[in-house]
Amino acid sequence: MIDSFELGPIRPPSEAYSLLIRVTRNCPWNRCRFCHTYKGEKFELRSVEEIKQDIRTARAIQDEIKELSWKSGNGDRLEQTAATAFNNSSNHAYRNVALWLYAGGKSAFLQDANTLIMKTGELVEVIRFLKETLPSIDRITSYARSKTAAKKKPEEMVELREAGLSRIHIGLESGYDPILQYMDKGVTAAEHIAGGKRVVESGISLSEYVIPGLGGKKWWREHAIQTARVLNEINPDFIRVRTLTVNDRMPLHNDVNEGGFIRATDEEIIEEEKLLLEHLECTSNIVSDHINNLMQAVEGKLPQDKEKMLAVISRFQALTPEERTNFIIGRRTGMYGELNDMNDMRRHEVVEQAIRRLGQDGGGVDEKTVFSLMEGFI
Ligand code: SF4
Repeated sequence: MIDSFELGPIRPPSEAYSLLIRVTRNCPWNRCRFCHTYKGEKFELRSVEEIKQDIRTARAIQDEIKELSWKSGNGDRLEQTAATAFNNSSNHAYRNVALWLYAGGKSAFLQDANTLIMKTGELVEVIRFLKETLPSIDRITSYARSKTAAKKKPEEMVELREAGLSRIHIGLESGYDPILQYMDKGVTAAEHIAGGKRVVESGISLSEYVIPGLGGKKWWREHAIQTARVLNEINPDFIRVRTLTVNDRMPLHNDVNEGGFIRATDEEIIEEEKLLLEHLECTSNIVSDHINNLMQAVEGKLPQDKEKMLAVISRFQALTPEERTNFIIGRRTGMYGELNDMNDMRRHEVVEQAIRRLGQDGGGVDEKTVFSLMEGFI
């Protein structure tokens, strides 16, 4: 039986089939009010040797699955053996390698929250070792903080790209300084721009995450306009949308309960997204691939798809108030994926029944209920 290797708690949705290699533990900042992921956990660097040992273990698991595939007569066609290995194992590392092989064994994601905090030489050594040990990998991505990226010298970033670092995911969240400060993001809009540009100029692909709703009712307009301004300056390859959710493991939860932060509703957030899109003048791809976004269909390449994306929002906003509620509740209960799903009369009626149940006192479905549906569904 092959040993396991260490896995961190999260990866971006787009890395669902990547091999996960944990190069640091947790988050060195760990103060953002809207983030619960690493709260209570201490940040630690890992030694290069420790990481290499994990990579060797991933290789050994890969070899075992390949051998099983040959023994079962499937040869290099690994999908079936990888799927069986995934379904039959309770070892998370083993399952991760199996899933990665099932998807072709092409990409790896380096965990946890801020990989660029490693010394550049050490990170280069890890990336090179990963590619040598698992040569099918042709794409390596990771998370980083803007501030840390800005501190790397341009030549260090180029060295990382040449070693094989293909993409960096950064949590921009907002481009409006009062929000960044309130949320204790530990970075200013100017630092976001500096860090983002450092990545783009190195030739490493850049994904910037934004959080619609992060300005609450108070700052939604500034949030949209200033976030667009910062993104226009950076011009990342991808802008990934991830609507605010709040749970009781986040410091923001207390602010919401005590009235210090008033959350925007789904309809207000859609208006905010519209304003953001209207102000974007970059050439990025907009990706809404997270379940907590009300309208996942707002996706496309700027500038050519801007009108198409705005049209999706307009279509929602042109619905009657009752139909908008139907769509929101349908989305937040998992009945709908997109607006067209409302045309399915059976599903539409099920959602109407849910609305009657949720608003039993005759006052309709209140905001808190919608928030708890969204957060419960996730
Ligand atoms: S930097 Fe990222 S991982 Fe760290 S606390 Fe902030 S949002 Fe969470």
